[in-house]
Formats: sequence, C-alpha cells, structure tokens
Amino acid sequence: MALGEFDLIAKYFTRPTQQAVLGIGDDCALLQPRAGLQWAVSSDMLVEGRHFLPTVRPERLGHKALAVNLSDLAACGAQPVAFTLALALPRVDEVFLAGLAQGLFELAQQHGIELVGGDTTAGPLNLCITVFGEVPPGQALRRDGARPGHQLWVSHPLGGGIGDARLALEVFRGHASLSGDQFEAVRRAMEQPQPRVALGLALRGLASAAIDVSDGLVGDLGHVLRRSGVGAVVDTTRLPMSPVLAAQPLPRQLECTLAGGDDYELLFTAPAAQAAAVRAAAASAGVGVACIGQIEAEPGLRLLDAQGRPLAQVPRGFDHFTSP
Ligand code: ADP
Ligand code: MG
Repeated sequence: MALGEFDLIAKYFTRPTQQAVLGIGDDCALLQPRAGLQWAVSSDMLVEGRHFLPTVRPERLGHKALAVNLSDLAACGAQPVAFTLALALPRVDEVFLAGLAQGLFELAQQHGIELVGGDTTAGPLNLCITVFGEVPPGQALRRDGARPGHQLWVSHPLGGGIGDARLALEVFRGHASLSGDQFEAVRRAMEQPQPRVALGLALRGLASAAIDVSDGLVGDLGHVLRRSGVGAVVDTTRLPMSPVLAAQPLPRQLECTLAGGDDYELLFTAPAAQAAAVRAAAASAGVGVACIGQIEAEPGLRLLDAQGRPLAQVPRGFDHFTSP
C-alpha cells in the first residue's frame, strides 16, 4: 500500500532539530532568535515545467529548492537557521522522495539549517520553501544602499562565470549544442547552484547594496538601481565567463550573462576604497568576484562593448508574466 501523508512526513522529512525549540510534529514550529538578532525571512517556490524540467534528478531538485532560498539569505548577509517545506506531490513515489530528501538535507547540513515544518498535499509537483536566517540589526545587506562612485561587483565560481545555467537551458531548448563534457558542466550550474552564504556574511559592513542574480543580471541590477535611486555603467568585457560560455558566439555570451538568470551569484556594490577588502572577503568565502562597473548618479543602465560604445541591444531580465 502507498505510504500515507503522515508516514511520508515521518520517513522522509522528520529529523531531530538542534536549534529550534520545537520542530516537526505540532501545529507550529517554535524558533528563538539569539539575543539581539533579527529574523531575515524569505520564500521561493519551484513549479514543475516553470522552474525545472520533469527530467531533473530528484537529488538535484531537492538541492535547488533549498539553494535558491539560501541564496536570498546570502543576498541579505543572513546566517541560515531554519526552513519550512510546503510540498505538492502528484503521487507517492518513494524513489523520488528519497532522492529529494537526500539533496535537500545534504545542502541543509552544509549550511547548518534545519527543517522545522511544512505542509504536504496531493497536486501538481510544486515545492515552496521558506527560510529563516539571523542578522544583527542594521547589518542586513539591502538593495537600496548603492551610491554614485561605488563599484559594482558580481561573484562567480572560481575559474567559472555567470550565464552557464542559461546556456544549459538553451541546449535543452535545442537552440545551442555542446559536447557531452561541456553540457554536463553547464547543466550542473543550472541544477546545482551553490548559494553564496559565506560571501554574504563576509560582505556585511563592506557592501553598500546586494541582490542575488536569479532573473538575469540586467533585471536584478535594475532592482538595485531603482531602490537606490541611481544608475550604473557596466563594462560587458569584464563579465566573468566559464571557458564553455566564452567559446560561444558573442551574442549568446551577452544573452546568457546579462539576461540568463538562475545564476544565484551575488551582485553587489561597495565603495572603491573597500576593493581590497571585497577581494579578501571573496577569497575567505572561496569564490571569485569581478568588478564589472560603477554606480553613477544619472538613472538608467549603460552597457558598454569592447570599444566602450553602448550595446545596440540590451537583453531583458526574466519576468514570469511578460517573458516568452
Ligand atoms: P496541520 O494539519 O496542523 O497543518 P499537518 O498535518 O499539515 O499539520 O502537518 C503535521 C506536521 O508535519 C506539522 O508539524 C507540519 O509542520 C509538518 N509537515 C507537514 N508537511 C511537511 C513537509 N513537507 N516537510 C516538513 N514538515 C512537514
Ligand atoms: Mg498543514
């Protein structure tokens, strides 16, 4: 007989909690922030067909569902503490559930975050996670602190870049083709993003504004510029790229780095005097950072090509209701 709702929760999602006052099993979880700290709270939902393909391995789906949420805590400079999981499942498939739980708890353990509750229902496959992180008052990284003259930075994997997830999607869509090894590398970027939690923590007190790149660099930078009431210039030749993406034609490079999305890297600003400290923060977090431009008083975004001229066409960020 198929596993029931409560057996399923007990078998796959209930683990002893270390930090929560009360975890799974009651009507509410009970959490106590450490003295003097604030909660940073964020939710992200993953919908089959919209955010992931039905062919994704369940381990990678579990990883990604939590990773995209941890990325929001990273962008705020918050320390992960607890999360909840609301899950809709078309059927009870134990191979799927075991894989999902494995990917989820592996990443949770790496970041010291624990599952404290959720909801489980039958329905089209859908995962919604809410994360709770701690941050000292006044120290959260926000979108509204960028000022003219500040440098603009983006993080990236060491030896890699941004835009690989989009390149993988273009291959899935049949718009680009790659060798087997190249495809495996960019597919990993799409399915197993690494949230930049350590970098976010190291940037407290250094970065003046931050956001994680989930909908494409141009779109996400636009959020920072509008919230901060400033503009920016970006030298597109300084966008970090993996060797795989760098081997693609220039229009595809620009599409993937500027409008790609699903990068889950941190895009942030800092006063120029902090450049060495920013590099040291990145080194301590084990990630690369590239300075790609500068904040200016004049509103709007100016993207420059290799000759220092404005790009003819500006790729747009992703919008669930207006993008193709
Ligand atoms: P209620 O009916 O009171 O909302 P539920 O019966 O939905 O409670 O859930 C029972 C317990 O299991 C609760 O503590 C809830 O937080 C937890 N729970 C339900 N689904 C999940 C899930 N997918 N992951 C983690 N905890 C869950
Ligand atoms: Mg419930």
